[in-house]
Amino acid sequence: MPPFVTESLILKVVDFQERDLLVTFYGDERGKLRGVAKGAKASRRRFGANLDLLSLVRISGFERPGDSLVRLEGADLLEHFGPVREDLVGFARACYVAEWVDGCAAERQPVHGLLSLVLWALRSLGKGSAGEAVLRLFEIRALDLAGYGPRLDACARCGGDLGHGTSIRVEISQGGALCQSCAGGPGLRISRGTLKLLHEARSLPLGRLHRVAFSSLAMREARGLLRSFFTYHAGHTLRSSEFLESVGT
Ligand SMILES: [Zn+2]
Repeated sequence: MPPFVTESLILKVVDFQERDLLVTFYGDERGKLRGVAKGAKASRRRFGANLDLLSLVRISGFERPGDSLVRLEGADLLEHFGPVREDLVGFARACYVAEWVDGCAAERQPVHGLLSLVLWALRSLGKGSAGEAVLRLFEIRALDLAGYGPRLDACARCGGDLGHGTSIRVEISQGGALCQSCAGGPGLRISRGTLKLLHEARSLPLGRLHRVAFSSLAMREARGLLRSFFTYHAGHTLRSSEFLESVGT
């Protein structure tokens, strides 16, 4: 039963049996794991409030042979992201990020750089401005890290030039934008400017991502495009997106 220590973000916490909690967490060393925190529901003596959703913690625990669930032994709080908890929409956006990671990350398969990206998103959301842009930038970068990033600068099927039209056909199942010769099936029509904006955001250092500004058209198109890619690869929609849509974001 090898022990481990991992710096991870808590993605989901649900009751488990009478006294325990089932915790889903993600860290770049071990990927996504699900673990049982014995007694954590009945008593806060051992874990305190450190297993709160969206907390960054240093988790210690151990694997159990033949069991997909690990056993949690302790959790030291590293960052609680207090500012994102203070307003409903900010918190919903942060939950969207956590749900995205839970939906796209496979268990025990680390995605290098994903935790840093998530922390950038949560800290940026805590600053309160441009929250929706933070989500779009998180999504395009996270899709890239997970290996699902759409091709946006050339035809995803033939590699050819996308031509000079003001809007480009994007087919999720083909992996991105298509040239006029390859486009034929169903797909989304996305403005050339939106594709260019998203493509350029992929290579910026995290510290400069906040400079990317979306027009209302680019935001609307990017939201539809990136959510479609998530749904295609994860096989389900994000529950938190319904709430965000209900409040107009
Ligand atoms: Zn083509």
